[in-house]
Amino acid sequence: MKKPEVMLLELQELEVIIRDARSQDYQKIFPLPDSALKQLQERRDALCKELERVLGVDTVDEFRRLWKRYGKGIVIPAGGEICTNCFNVLPTALEPDPRTGLYRCPSCSVFLYMAEEGA
Ligand SMILES: [Zn+2]
Repeated sequence: MKKPEVMLLELQELEVIIRDARSQDYQKIFPLPDSALKQLQERRDALCKELERVLGVDTVDEFRRLWKRYGKGIVIPAGGEICTNCFNVLPTALEPDPRTGLYRCPSCSVFLYMAEEGA
């Protein structure tokens, strides 16, 4: 099974694509048929359902809340010393959320994406 943070990253990518596809500017250049947009939304909804199963409804709600607030970069690669969303310094010994095993920025709560070990 995919790691939850990889799924969250995918969800964020889908949200970006769906938002772009619906924007007026994009429609002018690359008009996307309704059926294609519907397909993207169905994929997004299926992924949300799976994430709700894996991480719990609360975490997916949290994702939606953060997405509404920031609209970008809410699943970001960890490894830097600074959160690229709020620019606060990340603690060196970051503890994962005990319920989900996910790492979050302590200041702005965005999800931190850990690179695959050995990759
Ligand atoms: Zn932050």
